[in-house]
Amino acid sequence: MNEKVRCLIIGSGPAGFTAAIYASRANLSPVLYEGMEPGGQLTTTTEVENFPGYPAGITGPELMVDLKKQAERFGADIRFGTATSTDLTSSPYKVTIDGEKIIEAETIIISTGATAKYLGLPDEQKYAGSGVSACATCDGFFYRKLTVAVVGGGDTACEEASYLAGLASKVYIIVRKKELRASKIMQERVMKNPKIEILFEHETLGLTGEGVVQGANLVKHKGQPNEELVHIDIDGFFLAIGHTPNSGIFKPWINTDEVGYIKTIPGTPLTNLPGIFASGDVADPHYRQAITAAGTGCQAAIEAERYLSEKGL
Ligand code: NDP
Repeated sequence: MNEKVRCLIIGSGPAGFTAAIYASRANLSPVLYEGMEPGGQLTTTTEVENFPGYPAGITGPELMVDLKKQAERFGADIRFGTATSTDLTSSPYKVTIDGEKIIEAETIIISTGATAKYLGLPDEQKYAGSGVSACATCDGFFYRKLTVAVVGGGDTACEEASYLAGLASKVYIIVRKKELRASKIMQERVMKNPKIEILFEHETLGLTGEGVVQGANLVKHKGQPNEELVHIDIDGFFLAIGHTPNSGIFKPWINTDEVGYIKTIPGTPLTNLPGIFASGDVADPHYRQAITAAGTGCQAAIEAERYLSEKGL
């Protein structure tokens, strides 16, 4: 028989756990499924220096453990499992977990986050787990005293490059434009680091190596008269070029933008379906911060509580 819940939270980043804290304190008896990456993207970062309340900073994994504990303290039912499909044709909405168990939910808070993007090169598949990674903090350890490259020019790329510079002997940042997109403070940090070399106006053509990554073929000034091919010797190749929102299983019913970010009524977590709310990075192409995700998780739980009490559920 299907399990019936009043409030189902999907995803375990700052948005999901904050929704769980508020929903459990409001007696909604929320059930939260953690998804494939319990703790979300913050578990793959090191220091979080900009989450208010931590003047000395905190590591991403520690912050997520604290948020989870706080949600459990008020009775949130936090479970392993991933939502694999949905049927949102009518309420109560049906969500299948791990392809088997069906949950019937009066309200759903979607906080499934976003996933790292790859360039789409066949070599990324070929060397997956053998030198290609999208998570410096997960895999950086394997590159102590070696040479690595990070692709991207945003805050993630700079953060990952700084982290890797603490382990590796040399870090290249491969940037396709003439400038970094990252915030000024992050730009300064990478520019000042003697272990980091930024390759502006370079794009990756492919990777080389016998079984494991040993080098990358790049093109400098692509499409310009001074275009040239460049080879760098590297042991690791890290992607940091942005993320794709994890909204696929909701798309038949929930409105998204062209990239896949869930559309909400501006300033609210309300989607096009009553009782279904979206919070965190899955609905946020602009800010994508832990604190903004937490804020929208709070909003989603408050809206779920209002919806349930209005319906007398
Ligand atoms: P961004 O979208 O900000 O940056 C992506 C970078 O990857 C850009 O430099 C982009 O280049 C480059 N890129 C994208 N596609 C390709 C491609 N096919 N080939 C080569 N390069 C490519 O993503 P981030 O993940 O860096 O950041 C996302 C958000 O999270 C931002 O708002 C950021 O500020 C925030 N963030 C904040 C942090 C913090 O405050 N501590 C830490 C990490 C992220 P181009 O510039 O040419 O488009």
